[in-house]
Amino acid sequence: MSSKVVKFGGSSLASAEQFQKVGEIIHADKDRKVVVPSAPGKRFDGDEKVTDMLYDCYAHVETDQDFTLRLQHVKERYDEIIEGLHLDLDLSKEFETIAENFKKNIGVEYAASRGEYLNGIVLAAYLGFDFVDAYDVIFFKQNGRLDEDKTNRVMREVLAKHETAVIPGFYGQREDKAVKTFSRGGSDITGSIVARAMKADVYENWTDVSGFLIADPRIVENPARIETITYTELRELAYMGASVLHEDAIFPVRKHGIPINIRNTNVPQDEGTWIVESTARKSKYTVTGIAGKKGFCSVNIAKDYMNAEVGFVRKVLQAFEDQSISIEHIPSGIDTMAVFVHEDEFIDKEQAVVSGIHQLAKPDMLEIEADLALIAVVGRGMKSQRGTAGRIFSALAHAHVNVRMIDQGSSELNIIIGVENRDFETAIKAIYDIFVTTQV
Ligand code: ASP
Repeated sequence: MSSKVVKFGGSSLASAEQFQKVGEIIHADKDRKVVVPSAPGKRFDGDEKVTDMLYDCYAHVETDQDFTLRLQHVKERYDEIIEGLHLDLDLSKEFETIAENFKKNIGVEYAASRGEYLNGIVLAAYLGFDFVDAYDVIFFKQNGRLDEDKTNRVMREVLAKHETAVIPGFYGQREDKAVKTFSRGGSDITGSIVARAMKADVYENWTDVSGFLIADPRIVENPARIETITYTELRELAYMGASVLHEDAIFPVRKHGIPINIRNTNVPQDEGTWIVESTARKSKYTVTGIAGKKGFCSVNIAKDYMNAEVGFVRKVLQAFEDQSISIEHIPSGIDTMAVFVHEDEFIDKEQAVVSGIHQLAKPDMLEIEADLALIAVVGRGMKSQRGTAGRIFSALAHAHVNVRMIDQGSSELNIIIGVENRDFETAIKAIYDIFVTTQV
């Protein structure tokens, strides 16, 4: 029998009305057996997420201020949902326990995790599913890494005893028994871990958008949706800033051939986006997605006979490593190379890096350029298509965008283009138009 793990984000569970939509989605498909909820998110613009309220509440604990009123506000968020759903459920005892634990300075991760924990209890009661505490089925090693073997084993044993279950997202248990949370947005990771442990057929991730879009809608008006994307393509785009799904959520499932389907709780009839290991499905357009980011610097270096000097690149990179700066791209020529870094990581350490390069690599010339943006054009179809690069660059030329850097990944899955910050939006629009708008 097939099974689906279904994760709902905070906006999908922000109010009683949203819970009702979730209930309809779950009951519409009997394969949706295990549900992973986030904490209640924002109900409207300017509203507060329960997780943020809990962080704030615990900040009061840490500074010895009275937290009771803040905690009361959290309780009101749940009570509103419980009343709206006409549930016979009272969370008073749970809140007493939480308050007692706060007084014992139990830790901020425990505090943050209560958002999902309580929402799990409410959702289980509403759906008529069993509640399984993530604390009992998700385990971390003391170094903070997930204990995959123990998690898989215990999760399978526990879930075998439940026909249907709700497992709260975002946290688990550390070796020393303390609660540990993932980074923000981490319920996506829980969903993925549960899907792997259960060997689910599909991991459905329900949110408030109908999947990934080819380009950022703040830049391109009404961009087309990505129907299918591979895990590798998504990595290339995620790293440039697309953020529908937590980046780490793809690792547990990708090696196991479990696809992720991003869906919209508010428009459940939309197919959403499928994220898959590999696919014979051609994407509708040559490019699968276009994403980018402003705020890069490039450190340009020249030295005669650089190509013949063994170890030159290593020495240059050493200067960045010594300052713990990560590197984005290293385009190079025969006697020149450039190192692209994030401006905000680099700016305070720039002079230390410059002097490091001088000492280690003795270049003839060194200059720093700021205000650059990088754009990734990603598509599994690109390598088998003639003229893709040509189309990108003629589109940019027509849009009067000066291209400052080009880097094609060895997988031929992406072309990275460096432009000036001020040309960023124009460049993305031009690339979108040439590959999508003019193709319809
Ligand atoms: N509630 C947590 C957060 O706001 C985790 C999640 O929603 O996935 O980051």
